[in-house]
Amino acid sequence: MITPRLSKLGDRMSQLTGVRAIMKDIIETLANTDVRWINLSAGNPLILPEAEQMWRDYTAELLAEPAFGEVLCRYGSSQGYEPFIEVIADYFRQEYGWNVTPQQVLVTSGSQSLYFFAANSFGGESSSGDLRSVLLPLSPDYTGYNGVSLNPEALVALQPTIQHLGNHRFKYVPNLDRLPLDESIGAVLFSRPCNPSGNVMATEDVRRIADRSARLSIPVLIDSAYAPPFPNLVSQNMDLVWGDTIIHCLSLSKAGLPGERLGVAIGAPELLAPLQAFQANAAIHSSRFGQAIAAKAIASGQLANLAKTVIQPHYHHKRERLEAAFDREMPQDIPWHLHVGEGGIFAWLWLQDSPHTDTDLYQAIKQAGTIVVPGQSFFPGLRGDWAHTHQCLRISLTASVEDIEAGVAAIARVVTQAYNAEARSAVPVGQAT
Ligand code: PLP
Repeated sequence: MITPRLSKLGDRMSQLTGVRAIMKDIIETLANTDVRWINLSAGNPLILPEAEQMWRDYTAELLAEPAFGEVLCRYGSSQGYEPFIEVIADYFRQEYGWNVTPQQVLVTSGSQSLYFFAANSFGGESSSGDLRSVLLPLSPDYTGYNGVSLNPEALVALQPTIQHLGNHRFKYVPNLDRLPLDESIGAVLFSRPCNPSGNVMATEDVRRIADRSARLSIPVLIDSAYAPPFPNLVSQNMDLVWGDTIIHCLSLSKAGLPGERLGVAIGAPELLAPLQAFQANAAIHSSRFGQAIAAKAIASGQLANLAKTVIQPHYHHKRERLEAAFDREMPQDIPWHLHVGEGGIFAWLWLQDSPHTDTDLYQAIKQAGTIVVPGQSFFPGLRGDWAHTHQCLRISLTASVEDIEAGVAAIARVVTQAYNAEARSAVPVGQAT
């Protein structure tokens, strides 16, 4: 048995961060096939037949082309596969009127690696020795940000304001007046739409962050993993915001290609150059196969069309059924609140003043045969004691409608029991009826 002698960094990077730690428990639970689990924990997008067919068709087209050898059998530029870069630049010029040139596009091995390169290029210890932070302006946010910085101290998140919207709904709003945007910030990062909450930060808030950041040359990475034009998982129109230091980050994962590891950054060439160099050192470049078939799907307009007509309605329908199930199953007198579903593939439930922590509730709901994800790992970089971080659950919309409805019923039973037991135990002795 070999015990690896890890460096401090090696030790840190070998820890499972964020949701991956709880995923281990979930995978072990699901391995028990004696139980018919209702799995509302999955982060993996669904394989929708129409999307799979489209990728199959473009793969067949590529196989028959002379370019096939060039794509698969050769190394290429660390910036990405040239025809794909051209297609991205053309698409955003034509559809959004952004003045994008190929020099403003960088392709990475999935968008996760893009955030890793950026967090460590712009954040961390500066050459003069001070610490530059990676600022997450709206917590909670994507659990994958937990592990992006080689210096965990560099990740800093801001607690939001909670806006109650009545009828058991709420929305997180960023506290922009308290946003510490100064020389100590290396980069700003947030997902829009947000995983886990489904929040879409208001366009004017994004503009305010972008304008203030631009004055200090701070890059603003907008993680658009669920945004238009693809996969376009939004419930209403959403403006994309463009600005001098914005790095607009796309992912092809939720549009059906998670296995190909394909992320795209669009931004100023000066900001992309260090990220490209980082990628060249770490991984050389992303898979060219994924880029070649994605170029075809984007250039033909089929990907954006499929996102709008198939992927978006699929999740929209499930969201509606989930909300109806919550309204039906959960008692009115318990302070439960669903975050408004503005985008993404998850629902986010806040159990205000919950008598149990999110991990205890996760265990109790698991006992009832349903698996959700405890919310606490979705607050990367948030310091201090905020009870809210232990009062939330993430529920995936990737299960079937039947499973979503049965799972919500199970959650409602467990949660109701927990609050009722608490209420009974709070009645002073002698007064119990
Ligand atoms: N950003 C968000 C908000 C995500 O939800 C995910 C994956 O779930 C990612 C980034 C990572 O995506 P990719 O597959 O492009 O690395």
